[in-house]
Order: sequence, then structure tokens, then C-alpha cells
Amino acid sequence: MINNKVLVVTGASRGIGAEIAYRAALAGYYVVINYNNSEEAAQKVCARIKNEGGKSICIKADVSDEAQVKTLCQKVLDLYGRVDVLVNNAGISSFSLFTDITTELWDKTFDVNVKGQFLVTRAFLPSMIHRKEGKIINISSVWGICGSSCEVHYSASKAAIIGMTKALAKEVGPSGICVNCVAPGVIDTEMNKALTPEDLKSLADETPLERIGTAYDVAKTVLFLASDDASFITGQVISPNGGFVI
Ligand code: NAP
Repeated sequence: MINNKVLVVTGASRGIGAEIAYRAALAGYYVVINYNNSEEAAQKVCARIKNEGGKSICIKADVSDEAQVKTLCQKVLDLYGRVDVLVNNAGISSFSLFTDITTELWDKTFDVNVKGQFLVTRAFLPSMIHRKEGKIINISSVWGICGSSCEVHYSASKAAIIGMTKALAKEVGPSGICVNCVAPGVIDTEMNKALTPEDLKSLADETPLERIGTAYDVAKTVLFLASDDASFITGQVISPNGGFVI
């Protein structure tokens, strides 16, 4: 089943992005898998999709590098002539006491998490405006809503994404483009590999639905926002978090 729509997902070599790519391909999208370092993992996601009859390609680009982002966008437009859905998922996180956050760590976090989403969106937006349609889905985090101790830099970067989403939704709504934000709770991916099983259990215990989330929980939310069922939803933050933050 091909729906003839093109979906680009950044940071799709593993974790949440890989699951979004896989589920989008099953839903019939032509999927562009962006990655930066994990080429082999990205190729595996691509191969898994192709094995199941889906359509996808992998494109390497560091989302924080303006020239690489321009090339990524040009390659997609040359190949498909359009982008229907952009999922800004690539992100990094780290733990640090506030007083130990170096300027380099602060800049790196904002370069990837905030400037990355800005650069990728700025590159693809003109083609959406030209066609007067498109969906942009920015991945924030529950920590961007409520803040996380020892993750001030990460929380601030994820809060910036919420502001960017809301402001851009107002600006491009008249051009027929919806911009929304997905702010997941704690999700079982490599990003949380520093957490011990005890940490994960206590996070699950604090969650009304009594478990931490899966990449599939996030992918389903993203695909809903990408679908026609969400055509009157823009500027919103949807948080698949099991009730962890209400
Ligand atoms: P992950 O497993 O660590 O995967 C991160 C992905 O981002 C990888 O595919 C990585 O690609 C890519 N990436 C990192 N820097 C990049 C760059 N400069 N350019 C392009 N791609 C880059 O993380 P995840 O848990 O799936 O997280 C995905 C998103 O969800 C992030 O924005 C994260 O902040 C957000 N989130 C995660 C959780 C959670 O609990 N896991 C909760 C809330 C929000 P390469 O390996 O190829 O470099």
C-alpha cells in the first residue's frame, strides 16, 4: 500500500526515529531516513522496510550543519519533488549538574536539538509553502514541559522546541501547513541507557499507566498528527507519557 506521500524523519537510525520510519513505511509513505553517525543501523532500518514491501532511502546529514541540511533537502526534492511530512526527531541528551554544564555542552545540545530543527524546517518549508500544504512534527520531551533535574540544558532545548512549534504554527497556518509538537515521556531507547533497571522501575511506578513508553507509542502519535484525521490540529503539544505529567 503506497499513499504517495513523502515523509522525512531526522535521526532515524535507531530509537524513536527508526520506529517512526518503519511505521510510516507500513502506512504507505515514501520514507527518508536521515542519520548522522550510525550508517549501518540506518541501512538496517531501510532494509527492514524494503523487506516488507515499503519504500525508503537513507541520507546522511548532521542536522546542526547548515550545508549538510541544504544537501539533504536538495536530494529529497530532486528525488521526490516534494515533502508532505517532516518529522524533526534527531536529538541528543546528557546528564549534568547545572554548575558543571560547560559552555561547549550547552552549545552542542542547542546546536543539535534546537538549531537542527530550525535548519531542517527552514530548508523544507519553502517547498511546502509553494504547494500550500504540509505537516511538520517536532519532537520535544516531557522535560521541556516540566523540567528535569540535572538536565537543565536538555530541558531548556526541548522547551525551545515548544515555543518554535507554536510560533511557526501561527506563521504558516495561512499557508495550509500544520506544525505540532510531540513531547514523549520516558521511552525505552538507547538515550536512556544510563538509567539502571531500578531507575526505570521507579519511573514506571510514578506513571499512572504503570510502565515507561515504547518507541511505538511515540510513532503512533506522530502518524496520527501526520494523517488527515489531524487536519484541524496545529500549534499543539501532545505528550504520550502514560500520565507521568498531567
Ligand atoms: P536515540 O536512541 O539516542 O537516537 C537518537 C537519534 O538521533 C539517532 O538516530 C541519531 O543518529 C540521531 N542524531 C543525533 N544527533 C544527530 C545529528 N546531529 N544529526 C542527525 N541525526 C542525529 O534517541 P531517542 O530516544 O530515539 O530520541 C529521539 C528523539 O526523542 C530525541 O529528540 C529525544 O530528545 C526525544 N525524546 C526521547 C525520549 C526518551 O526517553 N528516549 C523522551 C522524550 C523525547 P546517529 O546515531 O546516526 O548519529
